[in-house]
Amino acid sequence: MNVILLGPPGAGKGTQAKRLEKRHKLVQLSTGDMLRAAVASGSELGQKAKALMDAGHLVPDDLMIAMISDRIDQPDCAGGFILDGFPRTTAQAEALDSMLAEKGLKLHSVIEMKVNDDILVGRITGRFTCAKCGAGYHDSFQKPKEPGVCDNCGGTEFKRRADDNEATVRTRLEAYHAQTAPILPYYSDKGVLKAVDGMAGIDEVTDQIEDVLGAA
Ligand code: ADP
Ligand code: ADP
Ligand code: ZN
Repeated sequence: MNVILLGPPGAGKGTQAKRLEKRHKLVQLSTGDMLRAAVASGSELGQKAKALMDAGHLVPDDLMIAMISDRIDQPDCAGGFILDGFPRTTAQAEALDSMLAEKGLKLHSVIEMKVNDDILVGRITGRFTCAKCGAGYHDSFQKPKEPGVCDNCGGTEFKRRADDNEATVRTRLEAYHAQTAPILPYYSDKGVLKAVDGMAGIDEVTDQIEDVLGAA
């Protein structure tokens, strides 16, 4: 089963993708995580992407399409994957369609996570992750059970993303509305688009996604 989670920054894509990974034995393909790894490694791609990411702008389509195509070819994707953060433009959505056709793969569903802009800034500025295992948390909405200790791995170091500040979030939201939201009609015309209420609590959103996956 290959699924797309589509929604603005802070909608909960990463949070839900990690749950889907466990429940359905799928692989989370987060283009944001892949780019951050490229930046950290200092690769050519990372060098091209860094300033754009820091400013909240999108990385060029050709780089993203090549990156995701290579990733889908890895053997661990054969059992199914969750796209988190890709596609983000109509050109990426069209390229994804042709690459899936070439690879003989199909999309099970495209799940739109609907969240109002006014709460996204608070979601993003309160976000942090475990430095060891990558588990996601929030200062108010998803605190570790024991303060300062990761629920998942017991790690005690956490990190925050350089681009998770209010000014950059505003630019990222603009990019979402201008460049990513236009993909929604593309998928609804194909009849694969399903929406969930991303404003609901984390467990309830998971239940809604399970319903969508079960019904499709
Ligand atoms: P995205 O991957 O779409 O950018 P994340 O999954 O990283 O979003 O979620 C952004 C922040 O909001 C995280 O700190 C996460 O813990 C929190 N969060 C995710 N889903 C919800 C929810 N349904 N309600 C409240 N907070 C949430
Ligand atoms: P969020 O879910 O919080 O918006 P991501 O981790 O998905 O953040 O993305 C972080 C940054 O990485 C984006 O602001 C953008 O610069 C870049 N990026 C990630 N995925 C893509 C993509 N598919 N196309 C272009 N840029 C991307
Ligand atoms: Zn951890």
